[in-house]
Amino acid sequence: MEITANQLKIFDEELIESVNLVIDVLENEKKKYQEHKKKAISLLSRILKDKNELSEEEMRMLYESHGITKDIIVSLYPHIKVPEIEIKKEERKKVEKKINISLENVKETETLFYNNIFDFKAKVEKIVDNYVILDKTAFFPRMGGQDHDVGYISESKVLEVIKIGNVIVHKVDKITFKEGEIVECKVDKNRREILSKHHTAAHIMLAACRKVLGKHVWQAGAEKTIEKARLDITHYKDISEQEIEKIEEEANKIVNQNIKINKFFIERNEAEKKYGFKIYQGGYVPSKIIRIVEIENVDVEACSGTHVNSTKEVEYIKIINVKKIADNVYRLEFVASENAIKFLKEKEKIYEEIKKLLNANDENIIEKAKELFEKWKKLKK
Ligand SMILES: [Zn+2]
Repeated sequence: MEITANQLKIFDEELIESVNLVIDVLENEKKKYQEHKKKAISLLSRILKDKNELSEEEMRMLYESHGITKDIIVSLYPHIKVPEIEIKKEERKKVEKKINISLENVKETETLFYNNIFDFKAKVEKIVDNYVILDKTAFFPRMGGQDHDVGYISESKVLEVIKIGNVIVHKVDKITFKEGEIVECKVDKNRREILSKHHTAAHIMLAACRKVLGKHVWQAGAEKTIEKARLDITHYKDISEQEIEKIEEEANKIVNQNIKINKFFIERNEAEKKYGFKIYQGGYVPSKIIRIVEIENVDVEACSGTHVNSTKEVEYIKIINVKKIADNVYRLEFVASENAIKFLKEKEKIYEEIKKLLNANDENIIEKAKELFEKWKKLKK
């Protein structure tokens, strides 16, 4: 494949990059297949011992827990009798919290949360139990992986905000007003700011991942809370420590470049023509008019979340964990801004504690730890 591209003398950088990528992917698939086969042999030799047939139960376990198919078994042990099993697809139904509320005759809620409004007045449209619907709201509901806002509607504490169709429903601790009343509302600005920073950091991280790992990287999921953010990406092999370091470095480069973030509504067709289908990374459900969040020359996504106005506002991004969550899907967890500083400070505290315990200083701490370990090893013997 490499030869063909070179022979064609197409020195298109992107094509060559793609060829190398395909080779890399195939090499990895080959390795994975070999490993899979090895695992199958070890499992089957244990199950079969001196039998020459597999029970339905065993076949189901092999397939559902280890991904070992009938084809693989037959290729390895042609003389073994393998039962046909009906493959049940695991239906992962998202358990959505259903609230008993009728939205008939409730008009869609006017949204204020994209306009930097945190204090507002609104009319109470409907109250059902502890759920409140207003004619307009600046409370951001949980959506697109971003956690909801909190705050106050009059004297009632807002505990949760959800979106049902185009109606936004607030769950409060108690009702302190009547339907039809005009109420004063206040959104917790601090919480929103952290959520917006974590959300923006997620877009920056995706761009950094695509730059370091390759353009095949696609977002498989994301979540942004006030504690941390996570980004699930598709990638075909384990992410090395050096790559993680590089991703963090790239992400913080983008942060420090102080790049403007544009947010606007645009016709879907126009957006797809202009930016391509990569805008649907975040699982945005396309409608006629879509909301675009653009970090100039870095990342463009259709996104309904809230973001800061420039990358510099994210301050700093620190990756705190990377793990494989499914075949070809990796989860990166990270913190931004004050959470990143808090994280580093906590690490420093642990470091200082260890230093004290070892009676060491910055220069000899590793030496002292090694010494202690050696002593412990000797004692154990
Ligand atoms: Zn987003």
